[in-house]
Amino acid sequence: MSQYNLVIIGFGGMGEQHTKLLENHPQILVSGICDISPERQKAAKDQGLKVYESYESVLADPTVGLVLIATPNNLHREIAIAALNSQKHVICEKPVTLNAQELEEILAAQAKTGYIFMVHQNRRWDEDFLTIKKIYDTKQLGELYHVEQRVFGSRGIPGDWRKYQAFGGGMLLDWGVHMLDRLLIMIPEKIVSVDCYLSFALKEEVDDGYHVRLQFESGKTAIIEVGTTNLISLPKWYVTFSKGTAIVEDWHLNGHIVSLKYADEHDARPIVAGAGLTKTMAPRNDDSTLTSPLDIVRRDHKEFYSNFIDVIENKAQPFVKNEEVLRVMRLIDASYLSHNIGQRVKFEE
Ligand code: NAD
Repeated sequence: MSQYNLVIIGFGGMGEQHTKLLENHPQILVSGICDISPERQKAAKDQGLKVYESYESVLADPTVGLVLIATPNNLHREIAIAALNSQKHVICEKPVTLNAQELEEILAAQAKTGYIFMVHQNRRWDEDFLTIKKIYDTKQLGELYHVEQRVFGSRGIPGDWRKYQAFGGGMLLDWGVHMLDRLLIMIPEKIVSVDCYLSFALKEEVDDGYHVRLQFESGKTAIIEVGTTNLISLPKWYVTFSKGTAIVEDWHLNGHIVSLKYADEHDARPIVAGAGLTKTMAPRNDDSTLTSPLDIVRRDHKEFYSNFIDVIENKAQPFVKNEEVLRVMRLIDASYLSHNIGQRVKFEE
């Protein structure tokens, strides 16, 4: 079994997290790092890692087979292209780039060199997503009508590079790529339009939240939303299907499913609700629905790294395909456009 030396470029929060996840990996040895921060260099030395002075010196080292890019977002394109041209295989943190054009430039370098480039879309392994995806895949609740996916925090945008446009800050790039990526792999259908509203409640130069609505050709609809000024959260997932509704409340995976035992209620009668009367919104009889717990799906995210090695060794197809990531970046571009012109935009597949 071959062993590969991997160097992490950008040894901040996520860079260090990768070293933890890769501890004891049978084929990947984190042999060094490169970071411009003296504190981060010291932290790496303390962990016994070799510290490179620049990313160019990493790429010039023939003992390094793999690089992992975990710098601020604006540097991903430049480093990825240089790494591929230096015959290194590359794992790149999300968002892969600032827009689709930049990713196309990386993919051109990849096509020219034949080295592997894979984006760390780790939130495909989140249990809340896998649980909802299973309900969708098995058609347990019938056909999907509408899906809403949300993440809310209350601490604003973190006070580092994430607040600045030049570094690729803003919530749409930060979280939008995860949420769109998950939607697109769950619902493999054509998208016809995108409607996006970005929030600037905190008066920073980048968005502190967003609300994006997608329309699929089949009629299915989806909303993704992020807020950073929300002391009360809405559910992480709220999904309506033809035979039921599923909800995941929070990171602790609280939630449940309500499904129909039978479709028609012949005895639906109007109820007095507020200052009016309604038949449409009258609650169902208790015996016509069934409430069940979520069947939580768990999968080990570390299989991402093993898949990367299998792809390098021509033993597997990538879990995260570059064409999927490119489609997400095209949707990100369309979302910014929609916000800027204040209109829903057509999405050309
Ligand atoms: P961070 O600020 O904690 O770390 C970034 C590091 O890059 C810093 O230590 C900084 O000194 C270093 N750096 C800056 N310029 C550099 C250069 N020219 N060469 C070498 N190092 C340089 O940020 P973070 O939260 O770790 O985010 C890094 C990347 O990881 C971003 O792309 C972010 O979107 C991504 N990320 C992904 C996840 C995930 O779950 N997949 C989570 C957090 C962050």
